[in-house]
Amino acid sequence: MKQRILYTKPSITEHEIGYVADAVANGWGDRCYEYINRFEAAFAAHLNVKHAIATSSCTGALHMGLAALGIGPGDEVILADTNWIASAAPIVHLGAKPVFVDVLPDSWCIDPKKADAAITPRTKAILAVHIYGNLCDMDALLEIGERHGVHVVEDSAEALGSVWHGKRAGSMGAFGAFSFHGTKTITTGEGGMFVTNDPGVYNRVLTLSNHGRARGQTKQFWPDEVGFKYKISNLQAAIGLAQVERIDELTERKRQIFYTYRDAFRHISSLSMNPEPEGTENGFWMPTLMFAPETGITRERLQAAFLAENIDARVFFWPLSSLPSFADAPENSVAYDLPGRAINLPSYHDITDDEQRRVIDVVKDICGQIAAS
Ligand SMILES: *Cc1c(COP(=O)(O)O)cnc(C)c1O
Repeated sequence: MKQRILYTKPSITEHEIGYVADAVANGWGDRCYEYINRFEAAFAAHLNVKHAIATSSCTGALHMGLAALGIGPGDEVILADTNWIASAAPIVHLGAKPVFVDVLPDSWCIDPKKADAAITPRTKAILAVHIYGNLCDMDALLEIGERHGVHVVEDSAEALGSVWHGKRAGSMGAFGAFSFHGTKTITTGEGGMFVTNDPGVYNRVLTLSNHGRARGQTKQFWPDEVGFKYKISNLQAAIGLAQVERIDELTERKRQIFYTYRDAFRHISSLSMNPEPEGTENGFWMPTLMFAPETGITRERLQAAFLAENIDARVFFWPLSSLPSFADAPENSVAYDLPGRAINLPSYHDITDDEQRRVIDVVKDICGQIAAS
């Protein structure tokens, strides 16, 4: 059996190990928040936002951010049907309703026209999720939000390194949320970040994130309300700080891996990959192959081909509306069509040229079979 090629894993160097060793030995008592504070400041500087709060997950950051905007029972939040459930779960936990709309065929992100059409008097927010690093059309979404008086918020868990006309993903909405799960572009094992430029939203999340204890509250052990507990640990923040200090290297490597694939497939007209429209940069968290409908390819055939070569390629997100927890929305025809002819390719930072070559050979082999049939 050939050596397994994983689809993601973190890039960990002596830099991360040094910070964690220091945090575990010394990051207590007076220094118990030191790495958290440095991690938040470094991340905010990278993103060019005013405020950042490190969290135990992106899901938690989204939960608190939506709560801070006052979203609750009876409210609706619009998001793309093509998504990971983490984007929808906090909406459900708040008693609000996720409204799934269709995606664009080229970016696989929310279709702004469909979002616009789905707005009702109950709509409180549009959740823009930059899927696989591909950017939502933020100009269109922000204009729709403005016109209807609804918040636009960004789930940028997959979009570190993505830039929309000079602005980093996550820095444009009422707030942004990031994930540092072990599969993401930078990691803390588990972890996340809440970011915003709005001082009101920042202070609200700060209070919510500390079990409802306001920062100015001098009375000890006195929460003014029931809040959340989604804090990161100083140990994890030590890994996070080291990763943020390497962020240019880490995002550049993701782009390099993507372009190696794209160059290898540039002559295959029946294949498309993650787009990078003029004026934008894609962080390419996950290089995705989309086969043209006329190839007749199936997800099962793609999975079998990679499995045979011991390569961990992953399926494209199922429409959330097709999951047992939600009502079917087959009218989201693009979201229902894409996953059957797509596959995500391995892209961890330390992937070798030989390993990428093995992945490329599987794809070329499949394309050869399609052409011959
Ligand atoms: C990974 C991911 C999340 C969840 O992140 P956690 O840190 O695991 O909570 C949310 N949204 C998207 C788009 C993701 O890819």
